[in-house]
Amino acid sequence: MITADYHTHTAYSEDSETSPEAMVKRAVALGLKTLCITDHMDYLFPEKYAPETFVFDPRAYFKQLLSLREAYRGRLEIRIGVELGLRSEPDVRTACIGHCKKLAASYPFDFIIGSTHVLEHTDPYYPEYWESHSAAEGMQTYFESILESTENYNMFQVCGHLDYLVRYLPQETKNGEKVPRDYCFADYKELIGKILKKLIESGRGIEVNTAAYKYGLPFAHPRTEILKLYKQLGGEILTIGSDAHATEHMAHGFARAEEMLCSLGFRYYTVYRERTPAFLPLG
Ligand SMILES: [Zn+2]
Ligand SMILES: [Zn+2]
Repeated sequence: MITADYHTHTAYSEDSETSPEAMVKRAVALGLKTLCITDHMDYLFPEKYAPETFVFDPRAYFKQLLSLREAYRGRLEIRIGVELGLRSEPDVRTACIGHCKKLAASYPFDFIIGSTHVLEHTDPYYPEYWESHSAAEGMQTYFESILESTENYNMFQVCGHLDYLVRYLPQETKNGEKVPRDYCFADYKELIGKILKKLIESGRGIEVNTAAYKYGLPFAHPRTEILKLYKQLGGEILTIGSDAHATEHMAHGFARAEEMLCSLGFRYYTVYRERTPAFLPLG
């Protein structure tokens, strides 16, 4: 049984209204041993989305989470993480790297996820992005951006939700029926292979993000073919995260993910403390 959820959000993230303590209580009720809270820090989030900024006050964050860690000692291991939004656009990249480096050096995070949420100054979650990009262009731009950020940002431990853009691809219909959102792995295999090799050779890994199941996708992020390729290339570091923004989604799909990982031959998943990995058995 997977007993550690390594990707969760609380009200420190602008897209969650759940208190850290509510998440902690739910983790205990679910029988988890470890909860890593990883709120959003998306420096330089495009101004057109103001007042949304997706940054929090790290001092307040540490103060509250450290006190919860003490209060729940013996019942739940609380790890303090962050999900950094990585930007690759040439005009913001250097500044974004600077902010991320400074944060990582200034606070004792246990775990840092590096995620790509913005492409060409636009959040592809919104239909606006797709007015000027085809699905194939979007996926290509997304993976290229991740490759570049994997090379340029070195402060994160795992690459977040590697193919999550598939969730937001334009909805197509056939004979009046919605066609499930998908993309062709073979078209991006070479590019994805470069990302995975770069992560592996630098001692970093990927996460299995089970929020994909919630979106009705037939796979987690990243999809099974990517996990197979990761294994072939020698990848071993795999954290498991629900990306829950509310208590009811915590540890969602973990049994399904565990079965899938075991069927691919993975024997361990990864947890981090003080940014140092440890491995726990699967199955
Ligand atoms: Zn994310
Ligand atoms: Zn997240």
